[in-house]
Amino acid sequence: MIAAKPGKLVVISGPSGVGKSTVVRQVLERLGPAIRLSVSATTRPPRPGEHDGVDYYFLTDAEFHRRRQAGEFLECIEVFGRGHWYGTLWSEVRSSLSQGKWVILEIDVDGAGEVLRQFPEAVTVFIRPDSVEELERRLRSRGTESEEAVQRRLAVARHELLQADRYEHQVENITVEQAVDEICEILHSHGLDAEGHAAAC
Ligand code: 5GP
Repeated sequence: MIAAKPGKLVVISGPSGVGKSTVVRQVLERLGPAIRLSVSATTRPPRPGEHDGVDYYFLTDAEFHRRRQAGEFLECIEVFGRGHWYGTLWSEVRSSLSQGKWVILEIDVDGAGEVLRQFPEAVTVFIRPDSVEELERRLRSRGTESEEAVQRRLAVARHELLQADRYEHQVENITVEQAVDEICEILHSHGLDAEGHAAAC
């Protein structure tokens, strides 16, 4: 039997409010079963409409740290400015990679550094807003956040933008469609062969 060519990890980061999740969702729809999204674990409570095992694995602090001690995380971190722990479980990536599937990790900049240390061949993409002013406008237009929350998110965004140069690729999210096109092109340029891998699954 011929073993499948292993898949690759794709790390996608970008500041809150940049539209990362929408872009990632459309990339997944476009590329089909050759690539999947890793579901992270977190200690933050679910937001309305979020489901356990779909958006995140929602864990208590005790359970998260038990799994951390047991070595179940590829990376885990108290995400800058959030006050909650987030982590990528080995169980979300290992078997997919060995079956030849590519796996997207939508994680913060500090977690990305840890992934790169262990998987230097990971493809890294940073999604940027056209400017911090534009990001601020988008955060305010949600209309759901207090001034303090907006300022906190902007401080986190500045922390993240300072580390954007550590990513191999930077994509500006001017329109979602353009950002999705660019990311798909990047993944193909790194060898993602949607047809071939889909057929191997
Ligand atoms: P949110 O709470 O808004 O869903 O996510 C907050 C931040 O946590 C985002 O920057 C997101 O990319 C990051 N994040 C989500 N899952 C993980 C993970 O497994 N590891 C790390 N390091 N960051 C994560």
